Amino acid sequence: MQYANVIVDISASEVDRLFSYAVPEGLSLLPGHQVSVPFGPRKVEGFVVSLSDTTKAPPEKIRSVLGLVRPEPVILPEMMELALWMKERYLCNLVDALRLMLPAEMRGARVREKTARRATLQVSMEEARAYIVGHGRARKQAEILNALLLGDIDTAAYPDYAAALKSLQEKGLVRFYQKDVRRTPMGLRGSNQGKDPELTPGQKVAVSELTRALENGGGRFLLHGVTGSGKTEVYIRLVRRALEMGKTAIVLVPEIALTPQMVRWFHARFGGEAAVLHSGLSGGERFDEWRRIRSGEARVIIGARSAVFAPVRNIGVIVVDEEHETSYLSDKRPRYDAREVARYRADAAGAVLLLGSATPSISTYMRTMPGVRPENALKRIELNRRANNRPLPQVEIVDMRKEFQLGNHSIFSASLRSAMEDCLARGQQCMLFINRRGYSNFVSCRNCGKAVKCPNCDVTMTYHQWDDLLRCHYCGEVMQPPKTCPSCGSRYIKYFGVGTQKVEEEVRNLFPTVQVGRMDVDTTSTKDAHQKILETFRAGETRVLVGTQMIAKGLDFPNVTLVGVVAADLSLNLPDYRSTERTFQLLTQVAGRAGRAETPGRVVVQTYEPDHYAIQLAAKQDYRAFYTRESAFRRACLYPPFTVIARIVFTADAEKDARAAAEAAEEKLNAYIDGAGIRRDIVQMRALEAPIRFLRNRWRWQVFLKMYFKADQEAVTRKMRDVAAETAEGVQAEMEVNPVNMI
Ligand code: ADP
Ligand code: ZN
Ligand code: ZN
Repeated sequence: MQYANVIVDISASEVDRLFSYAVPEGLSLLPGHQVSVPFGPRKVEGFVVSLSDTTKAPPEKIRSVLGLVRPEPVILPEMMELALWMKERYLCNLVDALRLMLPAEMRGARVREKTARRATLQVSMEEARAYIVGHGRARKQAEILNALLLGDIDTAAYPDYAAALKSLQEKGLVRFYQKDVRRTPMGLRGSNQGKDPELTPGQKVAVSELTRALENGGGRFLLHGVTGSGKTEVYIRLVRRALEMGKTAIVLVPEIALTPQMVRWFHARFGGEAAVLHSGLSGGERFDEWRRIRSGEARVIIGARSAVFAPVRNIGVIVVDEEHETSYLSDKRPRYDAREVARYRADAAGAVLLLGSATPSISTYMRTMPGVRPENALKRIELNRRANNRPLPQVEIVDMRKEFQLGNHSIFSASLRSAMEDCLARGQQCMLFINRRGYSNFVSCRNCGKAVKCPNCDVTMTYHQWDDLLRCHYCGEVMQPPKTCPSCGSRYIKYFGVGTQKVEEEVRNLFPTVQVGRMDVDTTSTKDAHQKILETFRAGETRVLVGTQMIAKGLDFPNVTLVGVVAADLSLNLPDYRSTERTFQLLTQVAGRAGRAETPGRVVVQTYEPDHYAIQLAAKQDYRAFYTRESAFRRACLYPPFTVIARIVFTADAEKDARAAAEAAEEKLNAYIDGAGIRRDIVQMRALEAPIRFLRNRWRWQVFLKMYFKADQEAVTRKMRDVAAETAEGVQAEMEVNPVNMI
């Protein structure tokens, strides 16, 4: 008799263990097979983890596997190993890791739709806008109408909006229709055969060193190249060599929608051997791409974070482009770091791991320094010049305080305004960058200085011009902007801050004949919206592109000669130790968008903190000086990477419950730390209020722990997880290690 040890496809720690089932006569099973099994009174799906000839379970309790869900094993043996590693590393259920490894469409007995149900507006745009304004409290309806104003949508992409759509249909605002699913992702349509440019001397050195590693069993590298240095070409040559050797490659990018040219370039060079995997694909597209990869037809996989789980064997190269981006950290359970998973897979396969960036994260760069333990070390390769030796753009810093004192109260300094005039007069294009979304985005009082806050959350409400309402970005609360200050009653209540809409409007006022495009969260909620905006800009139909951090990513527009940063310092003041690093990265990346082709580029950075080193050094594009300064600061203040931060956040309806839970956890952890004799490894451990004390109508407390890098991190975090699991009823606990946001 043969037994299958199965993990059931239910995410709960109580069932996070193997269950034995008898394998019926005639069914040949392999590890990684997706099966259906009886589970209590139900029938569920599960994954075969291993097979054995014996079982410890009493024979009368053993039930049989009911059948295969799919003929082929869906989880490769090496991916099963990876899932087991992730379970330990990220303290998740095994099935949470396995679920990342196949498209959601392949789980549960879902039908594979060949057609999509789409929605379209049934009324004029004016009528739709009027409805939005008149129904400010129906947030979901407003959001979906807003999306529809930009074009038809696939209803499957908006699962949470089914009720809102139905009610809009009943009111005659929206109509549904069926359409064949287009299964070739947009970025891959219409490829042309790309020719190889001759490599620059720097690229040559990089390619030959990386190729040598590829041929000799792998290695780990950081490609630190200034913006426009041609890192992509290095990736392409290395990937090509891997394919020649009969191997495969994974290329990770921060967000597919924002890196269409990476997809295009890879497709031009690798044709049908390239596949795209990311969450923006329709179910059918994702399923088809997954099958092409699994069958070995596609051997180069390009995708966002989750593509690191692509079902490829025999990996030669894993590239992580723009490795400093926070989108590589998952914000859902399991909270994995795609760079760590990439490293695990590369090591297991004897492949080359290549992290690339113009502004590496402080912790990555530190690994390229002498004295790092070999298992953590990265070898650094530098590209110090732009491809074809084009100069880095000239960056001018404008002090907006002076500008104001001189009587210029507009959002554009004299400098930026005249630079725009020149640029447009020459027929060139410009990008204007703002580190926020929305119109003048918060309302505050000139008399007492207080900003209008959400009644449910301890955060500022955001003003949206399209419907003249205030919204909370955390809980969705909507309200009318007050006429007088809620705190002091003053009438001098003002809309402060600048958002993308405000900038767009100002540009239209200054240059009424110029076409302006805008890219931010509001204009990109529909599928392919990013790409349409970028293509219009590339084609020159829009001359000015206004955007949030989205436009800072790896975009390459030859005709852009001017980049304006409207407010450079907005991100400096966030309550997070990484805000300086993020500001530096953002400014360097944005500045790097200018002057990438023949015409030299100009960058104007407007700021209220012109002397801050993040701004000064980004203007000089001096990464090394920034690293030195910032790492000294982190060391002095004992911030990561010199330490590891872990925390458990407790939320409850009553503040005293959240607080009691945090204090109880603090006590248990103190006992553990003393019992294990590791007090000197801990920098700090205490219960305290979360930075946002009240969120989505729940009170928040946390246990915050900071330990030295040398501490036994795994042991400490495992203990924290155990403590979190013991929390009293009515209190929710969530554990995070080096959290992306410390709110
Ligand atoms: P990075 O990612 O390092 O910022 P890109 O890979 O976007 O830089 O390349 C910048 C520009 O230089 C692109 O337009 C690219 O086509 C061009 N380029 C790269 N390598 C070469 C080369 N060897 N010869 C000519 N042009 C190149
Ligand atoms: Zn006031
Ligand atoms: Zn709120």
